[in-house]
Amino acid sequence: MTYLDWLLSVLQQTLVDLQSAQKRVSIWYLASAFIVAVGFYAWRYPSQIKPHLKILFSPNVWWHQSARLDYVIFFANRFIMALLSPRLPSSVLLTTWLYYQSQNWLPSLGELSLPTAYVIALFTLCYFLLDDFSRFYLHRLLHKWPILWAFHRVHHSAKVLTPITVFRTHPVEGVLFFFRSALVQAMCITFFVSVFPGQVSLYTVWGVSIFTFVFNVLGANLRHSHVVLSYGRWEKWLISPAQHQRHHSSAIEDYDCNFGVVLALWDRVFGSWKQADWQQKLVFGTNTRFDEKGLLNMYLEPFQYAFESMKRRLFAKMPAIIMILVSTTSLFYTT
Ligand SMILES: [Zn+2]
Ligand SMILES: [Zn+2]
Repeated sequence: MTYLDWLLSVLQQTLVDLQSAQKRVSIWYLASAFIVAVGFYAWRYPSQIKPHLKILFSPNVWWHQSARLDYVIFFANRFIMALLSPRLPSSVLLTTWLYYQSQNWLPSLGELSLPTAYVIALFTLCYFLLDDFSRFYLHRLLHKWPILWAFHRVHHSAKVLTPITVFRTHPVEGVLFFFRSALVQAMCITFFVSVFPGQVSLYTVWGVSIFTFVFNVLGANLRHSHVVLSYGRWEKWLISPAQHQRHHSSAIEDYDCNFGVVLALWDRVFGSWKQADWQQKLVFGTNTRFDEKGLLNMYLEPFQYAFESMKRRLFAKMPAIIMILVSTTSLFYTT
């Protein structure tokens, strides 16, 4: 395959993905997000729907310097991941490995007998819960660990939000989420295939888990948009687009809140849940000059940032390390 063939095949796959119900940013879910946004404006601003719809398609958002960089990063990441993916262990490989490893300890659980419909429902629910929790927890780590924040701040450097902003990520973050997804699949399938052999399947709509389908249809793409759709008192249970927009806010009081994707439960348990307001006025970005950088700096600067923060942590712990070394050496010489 020539370089040109490879280039064309990646672009072709991008077009296929844009029509796939299995991808969050597909024309189907963008259309449903638009319908949800119109319904929201009709409810909140019954006499001002037109001006709000104008804002929805405003070039000030869609052609903002930050949005244009989102599009460039989207294509750059497609090519990078197309190069990396074949070199990473696939979820099938990981599942097979975990399945054979687990045979030493899982048989003690024995095989359970349940009607297949129950097994499928249980598997669909467990997979959804584990997937949603692992997304929340990895996202939380990306904020809490300075070495990981170095890479995640690429996503937070967006000054405006469009559905394409979800792809504004550093490839290191892409690889971390790739492993997260593979591990969750491997764990769920291994456990269920061992305990309910021959009965495991997912309840799906158009090839996606029913939970993911409902989440996507109900406007998941509005999370990265300027449509401040709040769920009101339901925000205690589900993360609304307005709550994720608050997560992107550059205001200090909004730092490190609402890491969740679908369920608000995890944020409430870990104390990072914050309610949003449909009238909130937010400024997005990291409040640093990093927000203004181009593609190359977005990719390279995080490595320098991560190295510097690692160095700072090491220096902070240096007195303790020296103490341990000195006491170990003196012990060695006295014995
Ligand atoms: Zn974040
Ligand atoms: Zn985001």
